[in-house]
Amino acid sequence: MYDLIVIGSGPGGYVAAIRAAQLGLKTAIIEKYPSLGGTCLNVGCIPSKALLDSSEHFHNAAHTFKNHGIDLKDLKVNFKQMISRKREVVKQNVDGIQYLMKKNKIDVHQGLGSFKDKDTVVIQKEGNKTEEIKGKNIIIATGSKPANLPFISLDKERIITSTEALELKEVPKHLVIIGGGIIGLELGSVYARLGAKVSVVEYMDSIIPTMDKTMGKELQKSLKKLGMEFYLSHKVTGVERKGKEVTVSAQNGKEEKINVKGDYVLVSIGRRPYTEGLNAEAAGVKINDNGQIEVDEHLKTNVDHIYAIGDVVKGVMLAHKAEEEGVMVAEQIAGQKPHINYLLIPGVVYTWPEVASVGYTEEQLKEKGIKYKTGKFPFMASGRARASGDTDGLVKVLADSSTDEILGVHMIGPRTADMIAEAVVAMEYRASAEDIARMSHAHPTYTEVFKEACLAATENRALHL
Ligand code: FAD
Repeated sequence: MYDLIVIGSGPGGYVAAIRAAQLGLKTAIIEKYPSLGGTCLNVGCIPSKALLDSSEHFHNAAHTFKNHGIDLKDLKVNFKQMISRKREVVKQNVDGIQYLMKKNKIDVHQGLGSFKDKDTVVIQKEGNKTEEIKGKNIIIATGSKPANLPFISLDKERIITSTEALELKEVPKHLVIIGGGIIGLELGSVYARLGAKVSVVEYMDSIIPTMDKTMGKELQKSLKKLGMEFYLSHKVTGVERKGKEVTVSAQNGKEEKINVKGDYVLVSIGRRPYTEGLNAEAAGVKINDNGQIEVDEHLKTNVDHIYAIGDVVKGVMLAHKAEEEGVMVAEQIAGQKPHINYLLIPGVVYTWPEVASVGYTEEQLKEKGIKYKTGKFPFMASGRARASGDTDGLVKVLADSSTDEILGVHMIGPRTADMIAEAVVAMEYRASAEDIARMSHAHPTYTEVFKEACLAATENRALHL
């Protein structure tokens, strides 16, 4: 009998298992694929960042090195090597998780886990073999899969999801992306940097529509400079493939129709929670109409000792959200009283410039009727950004108009994915914009842009604008 069984080894599941083991719980983890790490390590965060980094190097070598006085001749992409490096990066990360399981004495069971009853999980292994294990507590961390539209038939060759986009055999000539969200834009940037024409068809009137509107507008400008084209407020009505040609049909609100032809279509309209094969009914665990496992604020399902975390439950589908939930549930099981502040889970888009955000957007503050003031500062006015040649973007700080408490920070610019951590710390400690404005930030760094935006938010006193 285990103290804890975790089903699924993504960032939610493996982190829950490690924390539980640290707290002295006898822990098992079940993963249906041979490699641990889930979507994030195998077909998500890590491989996409590996390709983003490689393609950024190429793009810089082709377009910006000459500004720095570096002349290169006969530059070309070795795409096969790029993909093989990406595989190696994935392998290093996946092997790292295997090592962590061993180090923490967590039993790893490979096979599909499905409930037999509320205490027993059957593991279906290779060669029709099964094993049953029992747990005093069980965490469901089965994650998510790419969503699709009912009329699109994914052939996974030319009509593809993010999973296949990370394993292509060639750089597309013209990649058409359905969906202007984070995953589509990150993968779109990879291929645009490598020379593909990239068109994005988005249903909403802005890209990255869930983020602060200023971010979408600024990012679109930068991605247009990269050569990407956008069809906003367009509803896709069909996708057709003829040989090597694919056509995406869409129409806008005025019923005007467009056909965008390319050689690959990436469907990236979001992800759906994944519970297939889990047999949750056998344990009496409730799944809601969105396909998510229903949980309360302690991430407990309707069955007392069964919890669910990560992409398979409500909330943003992000690896670090899943990790925090994994830690929270493990600590609860061990008798502690942990807490997650969901408002302070940062969101990042790893395009270039990067977009990073935490707290309320301006639209949310308006909707809530909270009075706020805004401080903005552009990277164009930063010495560090001018030195590196990364002058696109800005930092926007939203602070309470009467108390000056920071309510939201939205950044688009170089290395904002890393810079947002300062805003998270500030908001966790309920800092005012004035607090940040009075702290010394090393010069010259990109972080000065955050300080200047805080100065701008407090009596409009930015120093370098
Ligand atoms: P998952 O990582 O999906 O893991 C679930 C695991 O459970 C899988 O390994 C699955 O095989 C296993 N499983 C499912 N059912 C069973 C079963 N019955 N028995 C046994 N095993 C089972 N997030 C970020 O925060 N930052 C990023 O930069 C980022 N980039 C992304 C890029 C792409 C292209 C994609 C697709 C996603 C990205 N994400 C990113 C999202 C991130 O990958 C997910 O939010 C995260 O992986 C969710 O973790 P999880 O543990 O809930 O589930």
